[in-house]
Amino acid sequence: DPMISLVGVGKRYPDGTVAVADLSFDVPAGELLCLVGPSGCGKTTTMKMINRLVEPTSGRILVDGEDVAHTDPTRLRRRIGYVIQQIGLFPHLTVRANVATVPRLLGWDRARIRARVAEMLELVGLDPAAMGGRYPHELSGGQQQRVGVARALAADPPVLLMDEPFSAIDPVARDRLQGEFRRLQREIRKTVVFVTHDLDEAIRLGDRIAVFRQGGRLEQIDPPARVLGR
Ligand code: ADP
Ligand code: ADP
Repeated sequence: DPMISLVGVGKRYPDGTVAVADLSFDVPAGELLCLVGPSGCGKTTTMKMINRLVEPTSGRILVDGEDVAHTDPTRLRRRIGYVIQQIGLFPHLTVRANVATVPRLLGWDRARIRARVAEMLELVGLDPAAMGGRYPHELSGGQQQRVGVARALAADPPVLLMDEPFSAIDPVARDRLQGEFRRLQREIRKTVVFVTHDLDEAIRLGDRIAVFRQGGRLEQIDPPARVLGR
């Protein structure tokens, strides 16, 4: 069974904007699917619907076989890690406390959280001793986004949603993060939906690429070679 399944999903915002129209696709477990397309074609809305931050106006979304409309938020946080362009670290919390957010929400004990936080920081290439006690404003953009990835992975969710995670980062750091993320993904094999407006990034990272067009419709969903071959 697919890990993520969208069936006839549509979203019309209260002002009448149709952000997504009749969208259906599956993401098998362990796949990294990139969503590409012009600004305003419904990519972020799609991500927010998978994460239950936005309610679809039609259709159904299943994550690990369960309708997200009927999954309580804590359960969803355990299943889905979310990384966004604006990073969204809590500015008043240390790096450690940021990474510990979901495990704390889940009531893990202190020792388990401590070990997990250190493990996650190492996983994303940050030295826990040097970086763990810093506040977000004491880090570079690239380091902050690494913390964002560590936080999203902390409770070991099967699904990662990444919405333009590297696009606010300078080109050199972005290139490194892309390479490292690709290696990391080979190791951890999450089911990833990755939004980017950068086709090169999608080709580099994606097992498949979903090409959106204006009005929130799916034009094509294929491996990178097929998308390039058109
Ligand atoms: P993308 O991520 O591809 O840039 P979005 O999902 O952000 O696209 O937006 C899709 C469309 O929905 C756009 O026309 C956008 O202006 C509109 N939209 C997004 N959020 C809202 C909202 N809260 N209310 C009304 N319209 C919205
Ligand atoms: P707070 O003061 O809000 O507890 P800390 O940054 O001290 O924030 O700790 C945040 C979380 O990180 C805590 O849940 C704690 O268990 C864990 N933690 C604290 N110290 C360490 C450490 N040296 N290495 C890894 N995790 C730690």
